[in-house]
Amino acid sequence: MKKLLDELKSEQVIKSDLVYNSMLQVDRRDFTNSFPYYDSPQRIGFNATISAPHMHAYALEYLAPYCSEKIHILDVGSGSGYLTVALSKMINDSGIVVGIEHIDELYRKSIENISKHHKNILDEKKVILLNEDGRNGVKDYAPYKIIHVGAAAEKIPQHLIDQLDKNGRMFIPVGKVNEDQWIYLVDKDEKGEINKQKIMCVSYVPLTDKQTQLNRY
Ligand code: SAH
Repeated sequence: MKKLLDELKSEQVIKSDLVYNSMLQVDRRDFTNSFPYYDSPQRIGFNATISAPHMHAYALEYLAPYCSEKIHILDVGSGSGYLTVALSKMINDSGIVVGIEHIDELYRKSIENISKHHKNILDEKKVILLNEDGRNGVKDYAPYKIIHVGAAAEKIPQHLIDQLDKNGRMFIPVGKVNEDQWIYLVDKDEKGEINKQKIMCVSYVPLTDKQTQLNRY
């Protein structure tokens, strides 16, 4: 894991010690058996992938300025669970990170993955995993200083904008399947006003309903 992170650092994808140290604490091998230390996405079944390490790193770098002790974070489409744990490490396991995944098997597998070396944060409810449709967000723990979305939405879900806290940031890929997708940073200021920035072209699995995802190929 260290070698992979050192490469990402030399490529200047990882810029901060916070991101480096957070990712170093989460061994990607706990979350995928296939080429865990390659900088590429890997299939995890059910037409989902664990994102490439450089995408996890970019997401964490863009979210790092919004990290502080005890905040609430929402990770929509938590998949393997890798980033959900890394987000908790970004705040020193001091807050609550809610991961939401709609495929039952992936949800169960993510609990297994996390339990290998991070069972304590599940037991202490620092990380909470839910098996539901993430497009509605999770009201119970809202508002969130940080919302990460791990699948591409055709349109930014209004529920997620509503559940974003003031002075908070959402990182979300937006775009249709087979068309260009872009990462948007959606920032809410202290008056509740929204500012959107389009930052990079990407390729994510769609944020959709279960049946559409399972019938994709
Ligand atoms: N960050 C995760 C990304 C997994 S891929 C990782 O690196 O492991 C995106 C995930 O979003 C998939 O697991 C997919 O099942 C999930 N997903 C897609 N649409 C969803 C929805 N409406 N609600 C919840 N999860 C969804």
